[in-house]
Amino acid sequence: MNREIKKYPDPVLRKKAEEVKEITPEIKTLIEDMKETMINGDGAGLAAPQVGILKRIIIVDAGKGPLAFINPEIIRKSKETQVIEEGCLSFPGLFLKIKRAREVEIEAESEKGEKIRLKANGIFPAIFQHEVDHLDGILFIDRISFW
Ligand SMILES: [Zn+2]
Repeated sequence: MNREIKKYPDPVLRKKAEEVKEITPEIKTLIEDMKETMINGDGAGLAAPQVGILKRIIIVDAGKGPLAFINPEIIRKSKETQVIEEGCLSFPGLFLKIKRAREVEIEAESEKGEKIRLKANGIFPAIFQHEVDHLDGILFIDRISFW
C-alpha cells in the first residue's frame, strides 16, 4: 500500500528514529509499503520517518530492486569524499550537490533478521548516508557546503 510521504518542514522529519527490536508483522507491512512508496515516487532511497514512522528502517535500491536495511549503521567511512547531486522525496523538485564519503561500510539486519554487512561504492554510499541521516533527523539541506 502506498503511504503518504511527509514533506519538509513536517516536524517528524527532524525527530530521531528508534531501533527496531523485533521484526513484527507490522514492521514487515511497513517495509512492503515503503518499497511500494519509493517505487511510486521514483526514488532511490526512503527512510521510515519520511512516511511518518520513527523506526530505524531504510529502503535502498542498490541496483537489484529495493532492499530493506533495519537498524543500519555506517561502521566505516572513507576519508576521500565525492560530490553527488542528490534529491529527496521529502523535497520535491530540489536537487543539491552534497559532499560525502566516497566509500562506506554498512551493517544492518535484513527483513528476515539476518545480519548484513556490505561495502558500497559508486552512488550508493551517498544514498546510504542520506537515508541514515534521516533516521537521526538530519536532512540534506543541512549538509550543503561550499567547497
Ligand atoms: Zn531524503
